[in-house]
Order: sequence, then structure tokens, then C-alpha cells
Amino acid sequence: MRIEVLGSYGGESLECRMTCLLINGSVALDAGSLTQALPIKRQVGVHSILLSHSHMDHTSALPFFIENVYGQSPGAIDLYGSSATNYAIRKYLFNNATWPDFTRLPNHLLPAVRFHEIRSEVPLEIDGVRFTPIPVDHLVPTHGFLIEADGAAVLWSSDTGPTQRLWEIANRTRNLRLVCIDTSFDNALQEIADVSLHLTPQTLVRELEKLHVEVPVLLHHLKPPCVERIHSEIEALGRPDIGFLEQGKVYEFS
Ligand SMILES: [Zn+2]
Ligand SMILES: [Zn+2]
Repeated sequence: MRIEVLGSYGGESLECRMTCLLINGSVALDAGSLTQALPIKRQVGVHSILLSHSHMDHTSALPFFIENVYGQSPGAIDLYGSSATNYAIRKYLFNNATWPDFTRLPNHLLPAVRFHEIRSEVPLEIDGVRFTPIPVDHLVPTHGFLIEADGAAVLWSSDTGPTQRLWEIANRTRNLRLVCIDTSFDNALQEIADVSLHLTPQTLVRELEKLHVEVPVLLHHLKPPCVERIHSEIEALGRPDIGFLEQGKVYEFS
């Protein structure tokens, strides 16, 4: 299993691209930077996109991605999201006001985009990779994903504040090789983290007490203005098991 980190941040700046992982070159997990991080000929190889939730830092490349691959992809692009996510994308993004409704273009029998509904803890398999949506705790209905292929498992939180089920899944998953967890704000912004349901280094440490297996933990979804402070607060913890999910890096598991 090959996981390419196209974007690992919870916001955008010159150095920071928004959340998007590419699995085995063909399945995107969120679409915050699908168009900014890949040449168009590689975008054409992406046929399926799983969405963790509807927030813009996870969906903003969708309109431009569909335009880039339109007419070049064999068949429709498959979008997988919860009923709440799919509803929000259709109502607020592909609504013919913000952007054309690609579920009816070029016509409803041959659409450019097809929506599929995912359900909590019901696995789906795409291109030989098994994705299990795990409900996490965020402002809107959100799923993290357990990603399994080639005998290896990776658990990715998407956006979450303090949560429970994710850690239960981590503790019972054999062959778990990596956990990626939200750390969006530095400790001084704890109040903002609490109301927006994200973690800071200090609440991360409390969350990690729920993890009872030894596995590397990589932090993601840092907000661009907080990056330096988060790095120094994590460094001060002196925990070699905690690192950062690196944008542009390819993680391979077999
Ligand atoms: Zn986000
Ligand atoms: Zn969010």
C-alpha cells in the first residue's frame, strides 16, 4: 500500500496544502489539494474520492479536479461520503450557483460524478484497498478511516476533538502500522480548538492515553499559523513515538 501525502494541513499558505492523501495512485482520501499537488495526467488516474466530511479544507479541489479530468476519465468519478457530507456537497458546492451540478452533466444518464453513501464501520473496498469509516468528533458529521491493504493497516483520524471509537479500533486492529491524528492548534489556542473540535498538543497527549498499542503516531491538519508553535510544543514533550505526517512524502506499507 502506497500513501502519498498531497496535503497535510488544515489550511492553505505558500508552504501548506490542504488535506488530501492519494492511495495507490488511484483513490483520493479527501480533496483539499488534489489539483495543486498532482499534474493533470496523474489526476486522470484518480477515479474515486472518499470524503471524511464537508469542510472546505477537505473538498475545495473537487470542482477543479472534475473540470481537469472531464472527458478524459473513463466513466464517472465516484465520490464516497456520508449522507450528511453528500447532501452538503450537492447543496452548497455542485448547486449550479457555486459550481455546475456535475451529477447532471453532460446528462443525468452519463454523469461526470456519481455519489455513493458510506456508513459508519461498514467497510468498502476500492481497487483492492479496504476503507472502514470510523465516526469521530467534529463540528459536522465526520469519519476517520481505517485503511487496509497488503496485510497492513493505517488509521487516519481526519478532523477530530477528543474522541473514543477511533482508539477502540486502534487497540483492536492487528497489523496497525501507523496512526495519524489531528493536531490543529497550539496550546495557547485551546479555547478555539475546543469549540471547533480539534486537538492541541496538550489534548493530544490526553488522547494518546487511550491508545494501548505501540505504534508510530503522526500528527496532521496543523493550521498554517500554528505550525512553528505546535512543532516546538511537541518537541518539548520528548516523545520519539510522535512525529508529523509530511506533505510530499510517500509512505509505503507491505
Ligand atoms: Zn479540516
Ligand atoms: Zn473540519
